[in-house]
Amino acid sequence: YPCDVIRNFSIIAHIDHGKSTLADRLLELTGTIEKKEKGMNKQVLDKLKVERERGITVKAQTARYLLNLIDTPGHVDFAWEVSRSLAACQGALLLVDASQGVQAQSLSVFHAAKERGLTIIPVLNKIDLPAAQPERVAAQMQGTFGIDPKDVLQISAKSGIGIESVLQAIIKRIPPPSGDISSPLKAFLFDSSYDRYRGVISLVSIQGGVLKKGDRIASCYTRKKYEVTELGIMYPEEVPTAELRPGQVGFIACNMKESSEAHVGDTLHRVGAPVEPMPGFKPAKAMVYAGVYPVDSNDFLKLEESIKRLTLTDRSVEVARESSTALGQGCRLGFLGTLHMDVFRQRLEDEYDASVIITAPTVPYKVVYKDKNGERVVIVSNPTDFPDTTDGMTSKVKEVSEPVVRATIIVPEEYLGDMMELCFSHRAEELDHRYLDASGALSSRIMLTCTMPLSEIVTDFFDRLKSRSSGFASFDYEDAGYKPSNLVKMTFLLNGKPVDALALIVHRSAEQEVGRAWVKKLHKVIPRQLFEVPIQATVGKKVIARETLSAMRADVTAGLYGGHYERKLKHLENQKEGKRRMKRIGTVDLPQEAFFEILSSK
Ligand code: GDP
Ligand code: MG
Repeated sequence: YPCDVIRNFSIIAHIDHGKSTLADRLLELTGTIEKKEKGMNKQVLDKLKVERERGITVKAQTARYLLNLIDTPGHVDFAWEVSRSLAACQGALLLVDASQGVQAQSLSVFHAAKERGLTIIPVLNKIDLPAAQPERVAAQMQGTFGIDPKDVLQISAKSGIGIESVLQAIIKRIPPPSGDISSPLKAFLFDSSYDRYRGVISLVSIQGGVLKKGDRIASCYTRKKYEVTELGIMYPEEVPTAELRPGQVGFIACNMKESSEAHVGDTLHRVGAPVEPMPGFKPAKAMVYAGVYPVDSNDFLKLEESIKRLTLTDRSVEVARESSTALGQGCRLGFLGTLHMDVFRQRLEDEYDASVIITAPTVPYKVVYKDKNGERVVIVSNPTDFPDTTDGMTSKVKEVSEPVVRATIIVPEEYLGDMMELCFSHRAEELDHRYLDASGALSSRIMLTCTMPLSEIVTDFFDRLKSRSSGFASFDYEDAGYKPSNLVKMTFLLNGKPVDALALIVHRSAEQEVGRAWVKKLHKVIPRQLFEVPIQATVGKKVIARETLSAMRADVTAGLYGGHYERKLKHLENQKEGKRRMKRIGTVDLPQEAFFEILSSK
């Protein structure tokens, strides 16, 4: 295939606007996959993915064109991956649901594509729905993206209307990739996965030169050398080919043993023929951290093994060992966002086949210490390591700052008041809004923007947003750096002894509310002891909230009279079993399950 018949493109959209359905349709129409049986929803692209959507390259062949559909993930946590998949494309289909209109992620994916200089083909999907309002949504797209309504395609991916026009537009409007067969080999590595038998499989986009099996290549980033053992295209499964040519995207295997050797954003060249590397990416940054512990502390090694296995297929998870007096040995994991964390937890529980205790999620805080030698900046991602910021004069802490984000919410105007209230109660600043529809439109859509601390959205913000807008609000956010903040460490004491696994970092203004809520929850969950146990929330030396757990009456077997010796024995055995899982905090015995209760309930 010469370059001029190749088109590399992505489909970008807000979640549920029909990306997978359209991808299936395009593959079907180009004969890449069998037409699906009626009623059956195969969604080939999705099937190929592990739980999380990864960038997968799919070749779709028409009469004389080679169309490479490069898949992008659909969720806000994976914005970074969207941008790396787009790096291998020259164009993107911007898909918008004609009944829902422009949503928060429509904006972020549009901007990602625009930044990369891609040709954007606007497509309205789901025009078969009675609630579809194509003219209105086309006008929204004009107002928001500056797109001429005449350029907007109208389709139904589900019923197959207009799919042909999408293929035509891809061929006519998206420019072919440029690249020269005779120039030195230059391959852009934009994704990688791990195969237990073959090692690392990388997805590459050839910028120049020709890549063949047996070629000796080197990485611009690590300077390591490899030999290409396999290469080919995704059709949509791997199909070996003799070579990869300029403009093509495909997979390669080249005896990379560790997934850490494949740097997304790296440039590969022929050994002895170095090239100027492509502009790479900033590496993915973990934004949410949590400790993960086995419910039965004897299971730590098994848990760690499962975590290791999972991170082979998801390298964006950061892993470090940590230990806690309350929970024993565990791991501290860093995630791109809370959805990423939930997906990983789900996979972990399936894989490891047991419940895990996950501590409250924490964002990475920046602490500036000062002493006579100057200043020192430390990133704190575990509340236990957070300094006491309440002792004013004597403090060695100069400043504490927290990550903030630029948030975008799109919502029908009748919910504007509720949304503003919700944002303000989560410490929003610089709140602004504007109308997406022309004035006078019924139930006009509003775009609300503000800055917010990341910590405010890692807990239950998204759930609240959905419930207070009857499900209508869509939400997206992007990193907006760090901001100094009045934060304190909250510690919980049982009978005067701190429980490290429960420590939290909270904003000064919320300490009362948070302290009371947690103390109440602890009071409900912690089993009574033989003596009275005070439960306290403290900040610095001050007690913020307190409840008292009253004493239990002695001898648990007292009620089991009547000579049922066996039953009594059984009960004692159960108790012994229970003992094994007990954690002693000072003089208080806590079953590990209590932590599970405390930390997994909202
Ligand atoms: P994705 O999240 O963007 O990949 O969206 P999907 O392709 O999974 O589609 C989300 C939902 O919308 C599914 O239930 C699809 O069946 C449905 N859907 C997709 N395209 C259309 C369409 O053109 N018309 C209608 N009525 N439903 C559609
Ligand atoms: Mg999908």
